[in-house]
Amino acid sequence: ITKPNKDGKARILAIANQKGGVGKTTTAVNLATAMAACDKRVLIVDIDAQGNASTGLGIPSPDRTVTSYDMIVGRTQAIDGVVKTNVPNLSLIPSDMDLSGAEIELIDYDRREYRLKDSLKSVEKEFDFILIDCPPALGLLTLNALCACDAVLVPLQCEFYALEGLSHLIRTIERVKRAFNPKLDIQGVVLTMYDKRNNLSDMVASDVREYFGDKVYETVIPRNVRVSEAPSHGKPVLLYDVNCRGSRAYIHLASEILKRERRLSA
Ligand code: ADP
Ligand code: MG
Repeated sequence: ITKPNKDGKARILAIANQKGGVGKTTTAVNLATAMAACDKRVLIVDIDAQGNASTGLGIPSPDRTVTSYDMIVGRTQAIDGVVKTNVPNLSLIPSDMDLSGAEIELIDYDRREYRLKDSLKSVEKEFDFILIDCPPALGLLTLNALCACDAVLVPLQCEFYALEGLSHLIRTIERVKRAFNPKLDIQGVVLTMYDKRNNLSDMVASDVREYFGDKVYETVIPRNVRVSEAPSHGKPVLLYDVNCRGSRAYIHLASEILKRERRLSA
């Protein structure tokens, strides 16, 4: 049974890192699926023009009639763009290529940082969690996500350049907190694509833990071929192969995050 949040409003988490290919979309889709399996009502908002979360959840382009572009540029209420996925309890607001021009279109709009936040008001009582899958840049779209959310979840790939750019992301989060969204927090940092045969993975993991302390989740997402195959079947890895290492890691991550969330609301 779903216990609603204290104020009956969804907790909104932005999944952000300005680097591409670090596991933002994979984490959005699979974390959301694992939360939905825990009886949470979950919405993913895809705000990347690539639309990978939309494709990975089996929503083909012709079915994306109302998109996050309409919300952010067109001022459509989010409730009008919600589509059900084939995962019970999991809905999506899709994106499409229109979004690639949104940052320029928004330049002379008013409240341009708050367009996503304003639009999401229409769904905040319908869900327990809203996960925003951000594009690989710190432009106006990610800024909209940082202004709309309660906390940021940062996926970090266990590779040599992982920490590069991270201080820029942290500074950006602090600046947004000061200027636009005083409650903004970092929910946590998740290490992705960990390869136990690679010593570098371990070195990166321990560097990140030293820097972020207990903000880093204990759960580490392993590099797992099933995780990378699942999107081509239009499914989260949890529906594609529930017993693979990737699925088990995302189930574990969801329980760790839900535990952290319960502590926050206690
Ligand atoms: P982002 O959204 O940050 O650009 P993605 O989630 O799209 O990153 O991941 C980039 C690529 O890495 C994708 O092809 C994805 O399938 C693959 N990938 C992500 N996580 C894993 C993993 N744990 N194991 C194997 N491949 C992964
Ligand atoms: Mg992505």
